[in-house]
Amino acid sequence: MTFVHESRLRVPGALEGRTCGECAACCTVMAIPVLAKPARRACDHVRRSGCGIYDERPEPCRDFHCLWLRGAVGDGEESRPDALGVLFDQCALRATGEVVTVACELWAGAAALPEARRAIEAVVEAIAPRVLALSRYDGSWSELQIER
Ligand code: SF4
Ligand code: SF4
Repeated sequence: MTFVHESRLRVPGALEGRTCGECAACCTVMAIPVLAKPARRACDHVRRSGCGIYDERPEPCRDFHCLWLRGAVGDGEESRPDALGVLFDQCALRATGEVVTVACELWAGAAALPEARRAIEAVVEAIAPRVLALSRYDGSWSELQIER
């Protein structure tokens, strides 16, 4: 099974037919400065049914598409972040243009589960020799890399 679809890595926007469904992982994991929402704290607006201010949600929320939603990682719902336990993102830093790739663990131990480990290894392989920054649930970070 192909986990990483490299041609989709830098394509903005959702892959046609792919939707967030019940996932709201990014509404907790990501920092949203315009809402004064820190990383890894649930947004005040998130509801069981999704965003409570969907039509008025701020630009960073509208613009955010994780790599699963973009169709760059995973082949089905089983690799959606809320199922896999890991959210992948890749973006270019505005200041430098440097491309950074991040994997965020969604609950304690999720990144160590077999499917998540395979996914992380596949992404590290795909972006080599660049680094994958792994953000663990406990707030620690580590860098994963394959030298080429
Ligand atoms: S983590 Fe990805 S799939 Fe989940 S809600 Fe955010 S953009 Fe959608
Ligand atoms: S405003 Fe809505 S989309 Fe944005 S983080 Fe909060 S719940 Fe999620």
